[in-house]
Amino acid sequence: MKNIQTEAFGRQEGEWVWCLHCERCYQVGENRLEISGQEYCPYPDCDGDTMFDSWPWSAIKEKHPDYPDTPERNKVFPLY
Ligand SMILES: [Zn+2]
Repeated sequence: MKNIQTEAFGRQEGEWVWCLHCERCYQVGENRLEISGQEYCPYPDCDGDTMFDSWPWSAIKEKHPDYPDTPERNKVFPLY
């Protein structure tokens, strides 16, 4: 499936990313696709996009080595 994250960032579908807006995690390919072509965080109450607001989980793990390798869905992982 075509996807901004796989096309622009070379991420793999299924790779975990973290949303800067809601601080929750989802997997690449799960994003909402709006009619405008914009892709958004899959959590319905979040308006974070996949272009600027999604960070690779590995980047979060570097700051928080105590976080799990596979993040829990729907759980908030604060950056600070
Ligand atoms: Zn979000």
